[in-house]
Amino acid sequence: MKQYDVAIIGAGVTGTSILYTLKKYTDVKDILLIEKYDKIAKVQSARTNNSQTLHIGDIESHYTLKTSTSVKKAASYVASYVDTHQGLHRNTPKMLLAVGQEEVERLKLWYEERKELFPYMRLIQREEIAKIEPKIVEGRDQGIPLLAIYTEQGYAIDYGKLSESFVKESQSEDILLNTKVLTIKKQNDYYTIKTNKKIIHAKVVVVAVSGHSLYFAHQLGYAKNLILLPIAGSFFNGPNYLKGKVYTMQNPKLPFAAVHGDPDVMNKNINRFGPIPKVIPMIERFNYNSIIDFLKLFRFRIDAILSLIKIVSDPTYYRYVLWNMTYDIPYFGKYAFAKEIRKIIPSVKGSELRYGKGIGGIRPQIVDVNTKTVEMGKAKIIGDRIIFNITPSPGASVCLNNAKIDVQHITKFLGKEFDEGKFNKDLVWKY
Ligand SMILES: Cc1cc2nc3c(=O)[nH]c(=O)nc-3n(C[C@H](O)[C@H](O)[C@H](O)COP(=O)(O)OP(=O)(O)OC[C@H]3O[C@@H](n4cnc5c(N)ncnc54)[C@H](O)[C@@H]3O)c2cc1C
Repeated sequence: MKQYDVAIIGAGVTGTSILYTLKKYTDVKDILLIEKYDKIAKVQSARTNNSQTLHIGDIESHYTLKTSTSVKKAASYVASYVDTHQGLHRNTPKMLLAVGQEEVERLKLWYEERKELFPYMRLIQREEIAKIEPKIVEGRDQGIPLLAIYTEQGYAIDYGKLSESFVKESQSEDILLNTKVLTIKKQNDYYTIKTNKKIIHAKVVVVAVSGHSLYFAHQLGYAKNLILLPIAGSFFNGPNYLKGKVYTMQNPKLPFAAVHGDPDVMNKNINRFGPIPKVIPMIERFNYNSIIDFLKLFRFRIDAILSLIKIVSDPTYYRYVLWNMTYDIPYFGKYAFAKEIRKIIPSVKGSELRYGKGIGGIRPQIVDVNTKTVEMGKAKIIGDRIIFNITPSPGASVCLNNAKIDVQHITKFLGKEFDEGKFNKDLVWKY
C-alpha cells in the first residue's frame, strides 16, 4: 500500500493553504488532501459562514498592540496572495466606530498607539463619517459624541474561493473528497488513517478539521487538558445601507469581534449584520451529529463541567450570551437585534432585517480545564510527526502564516527543504 509523506485532513482554508505551501515551496513529494464533503471549504471557510474580513489588527479594538502587530504580519501573506490572484476578494472601505464619550476616548488612545503601525488609517469626525456612511449619522442624537478610524483599503475575502484557489495553484491530483476520517493511529514510523472508504498510511499527518482537530488530538493522547467552548455566530441580512465594513468598539472581556455591518463580498445589494455569538453544544454548525462529537470531547468530566460553569457564569458572558439567544426567536428576534444594530444605523427597523437561515459557523474557543479559562492564543498542538490545527478566528486571515509554521515543522519531521525566502518574497505585502 502506498505510503504518503504527508496526509492533510480537512480542505478548509487551513488545510488547503498548507497543501499550497508544501507543493509550491518544498521538495516534499507525496501529499494527500482528505475531505469528508463533496467540495472544498463547505464548513467554516465557506463564504456564507464567516465575516469575510481580512483581520489585520487595525479595526479589532479588543487586540493589544502586540496582537495587532503580530496579526498584521500574519495576515499580510493572504493580502498579498489575493492582490495577485483575481476574483477572491473585493476592496472595501472599513471603519471602526466609537459611539459615546467613553468609547471616543478609548478609540483616541487606541489610534495613538497604532498610527505608525497602520499609517493608512485616519481619524475622522462626525462630518466626514456622515459623508462616507450617511446612514451612521442620519437620525442620531446630535449630543452623542462620534469618532471613527477609517481606510479605503480594506479587504472583503471569499475564503471559500481562496481555498479553491490554493488547491488549483498547488496542481495537486491527490485529493480525496467524500472521505471521512474516522480514526488516526500511530504505528512505529507512520500513521494509519482509517476513513469511511479506505485505510491510508502517511509519515506525517496534519489535522486541519477546525474544532474536530481537538477530538483527534484526544484520540492520540494529546492535550487532554483542553476542551472546547463552541461559540456559534449567526447573521442577519438587511438593505444595502453601508458601503464598507463598519466595526464597533469591542468589550475587551469578550473573545470575539464585536457585531458589525458590511456589504456581502459577492453581493453588494445586501448588508450582513453580525456575527451574533452564542454558546451551542456542537462542533460543526447545522451538523447535528457533531453534538455527539462535542459530548465525546467533553465526556462529562467534572473539571470540564466546572470550567464551562466558571466561564459562562461571568456576568459579562452570560448576560451577553443569554440575551443573544433572544435574536433567534421567530418574529421577535429581528426587532431585538435591530436595537443592537442601531448603534451603527440609528434608523434601521426590525422589519427590514431577515435572519440568515443556514449561514454562520462555529468558533472553537479553547478552554484549559486546569486554569478554567478561555485560551485566546492556543490553536495548535504539535505532536510526534503530527500537527493539530484548531483555528479559532481569525484563522482564515492568518492561514498562510499558519501554513508557514506547519511547513517548517513538516519539513523538519521529514528532513526536507522549505524555501522560506521565496515564500516571504512572493507573498510580500505593500503595506
Ligand atoms: C461567525 C464567524 C465569523 C468569522 N469571521 C472571520 C473573519 O471575518 N475573518 C477570519 O479570518 N476568520 C473568521 N472566522 C474564522 C474562520 O472562518 C476560521 O478560522 C477558518 O475558516 C477555519 O478554517 P479551517 O480550514 O480550519 O476550518 P474549516 O473551513 O471548517 O475546514 C475544515 C474542513 O475539515 C473537514 N472535516 C471535518 N472533519 C473531517 C473528517 N473527520 N474527515 C475529513 N474531513 C473533515 C470539514 O468538512 C471542513 O471542510 C469566523 C468564524 C466564524 C464562526
